[in-house]
Amino acid sequence: MHVNIIMDETAIRRALTRIAHEILEKNKGIEDCIIVGIRTRGVYLARRIAARIQEIEGTPVPYGELDITGYRDDRSDEPKAALGEQVRLTPENLSIRDKKIILCDDVLYTGRTIRAAMDALMDCGRPNQIQLAVLADRGHRELPIRPDYIGKNVPTSKLEEIEVRLSEVDGNDQVNILQR
Ligand code: 5GP
Ligand code: MG
Repeated sequence: MHVNIIMDETAIRRALTRIAHEILEKNKGIEDCIIVGIRTRGVYLARRIAARIQEIEGTPVPYGELDITGYRDDRSDEPKAALGEQVRLTPENLSIRDKKIILCDDVLYTGRTIRAAMDALMDCGRPNQIQLAVLADRGHRELPIRPDYIGKNVPTSKLEEIEVRLSEVDGNDQVNILQR
């Protein structure tokens, strides 16, 4: 297998710092915004972005986590209502009503995960707006979804896979393209 390093630790840090600034610029601050990470690696990216924004603005950033296990439309034959019960937005007392939600994930591919995440959020309340931040956009969208904040555009073939390594879970920070 051929491994091609496309982002190292410095590149990831700079991309997340830029995204933090872009979020602040687009939303004219961080008021009424909630950063929401999609498990697993989206959660660590969301925490880092929230920490960056807090460093820049000096105010804490409301933060949540979304577990959409079983909610994707192409990963189970079970009816969606039953799957919806598996969706968890934490902390449970987080109110998203009238808030601007900034969803964070590691890789954007077909868009199905984000569609499921938006469905799940809508079931939790009526946000004012949903925005999307991803570390890597590898293309091949199957739904009309595009990110507002992109760490790096990574054109890939369907045979390639992006490996996102984050120190919190993988011991180091690196984004690689794996060629089978
Ligand atoms: P989608 O639902 O857009 O097809 O895929 C996005 C989700 O699947 C993300 O949560 C992401 O973690 C995972 N994913 C899809 N393609 C890749 C990939 O090439 N590399 C990694 N690391 N994750 C991927
Ligand atoms: Mg994922």
